Amino acid sequence: MNEKINLEDIISLCKRRGFIYQGSEIYGGLSGTFDYGPLGVMIKDQVKKLWWKRFVDDRSDMYGVDAAILMNPKTWVSSGHVGGFSDPLIEDLKTKKRYRADHLLESAGFSVSGKTLEDMDKMIKDNKIKSPDGNDLGDVRQFNMMFKTNIGAIESDENTVYLRPETAQGMFVNFKNIQDTFHPRLPFGMAQIGKAFRNEIAPRDFVFRVREFEQMEIEYFVDPKGWEVSFENFQNEIKSFFNDIGLDKDRLHELEIPAEDRAHYSSRTVDFEYDFPIGRKELCGLAYRTDFDLKAHADGSKVDLSYFDEENKERFIPHCIEPSFGLDRAMLAILSTAYTVDTLGGEERVVLKLAPSIAPYRIAVFPLLKNKQELTDKAKEIWQGLRNKASSMGISPAKIVYDETQSIGKRYRRQDEIGTPICLTVDFDTLEKGTVTVRDRDTGEQRLMKVEDLEDLIR
Ligand code: ATP
Repeated sequence: MNEKINLEDIISLCKRRGFIYQGSEIYGGLSGTFDYGPLGVMIKDQVKKLWWKRFVDDRSDMYGVDAAILMNPKTWVSSGHVGGFSDPLIEDLKTKKRYRADHLLESAGFSVSGKTLEDMDKMIKDNKIKSPDGNDLGDVRQFNMMFKTNIGAIESDENTVYLRPETAQGMFVNFKNIQDTFHPRLPFGMAQIGKAFRNEIAPRDFVFRVREFEQMEIEYFVDPKGWEVSFENFQNEIKSFFNDIGLDKDRLHELEIPAEDRAHYSSRTVDFEYDFPIGRKELCGLAYRTDFDLKAHADGSKVDLSYFDEENKERFIPHCIEPSFGLDRAMLAILSTAYTVDTLGGEERVVLKLAPSIAPYRIAVFPLLKNKQELTDKAKEIWQGLRNKASSMGISPAKIVYDETQSIGKRYRRQDEIGTPICLTVDFDTLEKGTVTVRDRDTGEQRLMKVEDLEDLIR
């Protein structure tokens, strides 16, 4: 692990090179929002593709959906979010700044495991805990994290709707549709990637805790007899997926959540934590949610959400296993794992050691000099030739970039900082002997290669 790395270095690289910007920056930003720039979009897109491939396309038991963000508000009553999707809020009585009471207690060295709102209130008062600004704190109270808006032209309580705080419910409400249209046998799952919104009391740590984020979730329906097999299978799949996107297995930790800290409906939860520059924190979760959700929606909607097992002639409500990934936290894990400072040729450099499968570009093509037309023409010809063959090499043409700005040294630095695994330079030897100089991002080593061998190299 690269011990020196702090979050500020990553934030600064993200802005400098166009991965992630502050949301609405020219207006001073909007707390808890970030905008992904071109290179951030390229990584994110690739992560989503790899996730979808592993969890949907490569399996025969998964159904993809893309549900609406706005849902009938009764959904959130049945799911328990209207009643209980809240965090413990506490206010600095002087500055009026708001904090998460559990976070303040944890930073003061107390464990909040299994503690109720009242317990936390008492702990803060008994231990005379002050706000980070040193002021007195008010009482701990519940704060519902769902964003509210109105549907239609009239603003009233009757037409209040919520921005979904998770993608999961969009799958539960489509359970019957999938059964009626595709008649799947258990076990089967539904998968969805999409935006979720939470009015976090204190968004912080860059894209780790934001108010608008993207989730990749699965609801996997099983017969309650033998749910353990599917649960363990997902545990392994999750680890393999994190390996696919280049995370470090030594920084990934599985945390078995004790019964007193689990949601009341969950019989087993494993959180996957990662060593971020801000410490060890939740990256994704895996929960066995029993039949809680389908039962709650069947009760709330008065629609039968049971399943008929033809073999045993049995009708029951399937149980559910939910792997839930946060894409923005995965991005932070990727960037902080890849971010490296090393010395090359006596100079310190920043290099993003991204897995080639998720690097924004696979290869950058340069002419040695930009003011020699024979070199720029040749470099552009090679670049275009590789782009034309990109799909046969299994990559998008956008993964092959051309760059002739500034000096060759600066181009190498730039490509190192954005994680391009290979740079290819066209020089006078290319014109005469058909060779190019190929430079490896991680070692800085350069070697000569025949133009016709480049395809194999990229593959
Ligand atoms: P935390 O305890 O850190 O607030 P959580 O347990 O509430 O997270 P879940 O409800 O399990 O999170 O959501 C599933 C996943 O969605 C999380 O593992 C995380 O990757 C992501 N996620 C949740 N809240 C946020 C957020 N505010 N910003 C970015 N990602 C988030």
